[in-house]
Amino acid sequence: PTRLVALGSATVLSLTGVVVITAGPASASGHRPTPGAAGLGDRLYPLLGNGGYDVQNYDLSLTYPQKDPGQQVIGDVTITAVATQWLSRFDLDFGGDAVGAVTVNGKAAAFTRSGDELIITPQRALPADRKFTVRVSGFKATPIEPNADSPAGFVKTPDGTIVAGQPDETHNLYPSNDHPRDKATYTIRITNPVGWTGTANGIQVSRRQSGDKVVSVYRETHPMASELIQVAVGDFITYNRGRAGGVPVRDVVPRRLADDLLPKAADEMNEIPWLQGKVGKYPFENYGTLVIDGNLGFALETQTLSLFDTSWYSLPAYVLDPVAAHELAHQWFGDSVAPWEWSDVWQNEGHATWYEYLYAYETGRLKDYAGEDTLDEVYKGIYARGDERRARFGPTAQPLKADVIWDVFNPNVYDGGALVLYALQQKVGAVKFQQIEREWVRRYAGKSASTGDFIRLASRVSGQNLTAFLTDWLYGTKTPPMPGHPDWTV
Ligand code: ZN
Repeated sequence: PTRLVALGSATVLSLTGVVVITAGPASASGHRPTPGAAGLGDRLYPLLGNGGYDVQNYDLSLTYPQKDPGQQVIGDVTITAVATQWLSRFDLDFGGDAVGAVTVNGKAAAFTRSGDELIITPQRALPADRKFTVRVSGFKATPIEPNADSPAGFVKTPDGTIVAGQPDETHNLYPSNDHPRDKATYTIRITNPVGWTGTANGIQVSRRQSGDKVVSVYRETHPMASELIQVAVGDFITYNRGRAGGVPVRDVVPRRLADDLLPKAADEMNEIPWLQGKVGKYPFENYGTLVIDGNLGFALETQTLSLFDTSWYSLPAYVLDPVAAHELAHQWFGDSVAPWEWSDVWQNEGHATWYEYLYAYETGRLKDYAGEDTLDEVYKGIYARGDERRARFGPTAQPLKADVIWDVFNPNVYDGGALVLYALQQKVGAVKFQQIEREWVRRYAGKSASTGDFIRLASRVSGQNLTAFLTDWLYGTKTPPMPGHPDWTV
């Protein structure tokens, strides 16, 4: 139901209904309004995100009318953004069922849908460098059953619904600029039936019951990539563990499984101070674990509340705990410091894998976990597979394609990304390496950063020009020689 026909970029519909044709430049500085790009130009996901504006805040309301995990949800979102060009129109990403109405700066705006693009034409062009608000109301979205082709998204489980948005699924739930380059703060308001729990990222700021409904409001004050949103609504319970290393910790689990799951999640209380000792202060307001009885086949670092499915919880602690340390490490690497584009995902997965193996080692479980006694032996084994993986998946910072999720989240990004860090540590020494790690998460906290940013920062902090060295390791089609281990072979 489009409320207004799309208006041409140089046409303004005045309040009196008189059509004013503004053929020339519309701004004092002479810039002609043009459409914002349909994508941010991500090499792997070209239509993800949109051009022409920068979101500052999402105020998102989601209503779950029934106690039914498969139900369609209804939402409203108010997005505060700054135009980065004169805009005649702009896109949001949205793949849900329906859109009710759109306003821009409080006035009805025309919209159309084309694939996953929601194309919005305001009545008046939006000036560059100015704030504007866009409100999409009455949108609808239905959760999916995860399967091998579509292992993520707005997901239904036996106990309720959750979100696994990475890398391109969040906009199936709500209209957004769905790319980690455009981080924003969030207010998330959940309305659900009494007896169910609604939880989201960050801090709960209010919770009130009215009639047979509960309205819970969460606030994430640290900039967050859309892919990292979590909204879990269902028959879950929240368990507050107190603080670890100064960080308040809360877990969210299906009520019927709480007695089994909660004790197994407790190692996070050790992991938080351990990782703070390595890389510095935890970047957000709180942390915790969300366990679902789904079949995701992975865990996911949703900001401040990492997602695991129960399959991890049937594995021994020597597996679960290092994997949990991996998701915790993502809160710094991937969440606080988000990738500039998806080809930079080695920054997320390489660092998370690095701390995963390190945690297994320092807690005396590397042999059980990775089959080796030392980290050198683990990395030697990864090194041996370097060329084979580069040929199959592409260089570490340049995955070849994104036809399926595992093309991007491939072993040469995870183990291969950690191997790049091992090579860097060999090259600069353990002391300088730790300085690089700490400076990376300090300098780019709350921002998005590229592989080029990493190379420049590593060079500056180490005091040596690492451009050629890291470019070979990150973009080479062949595995470079390993410093300190001239005998290692691929
Ligand atoms: Zn990961």
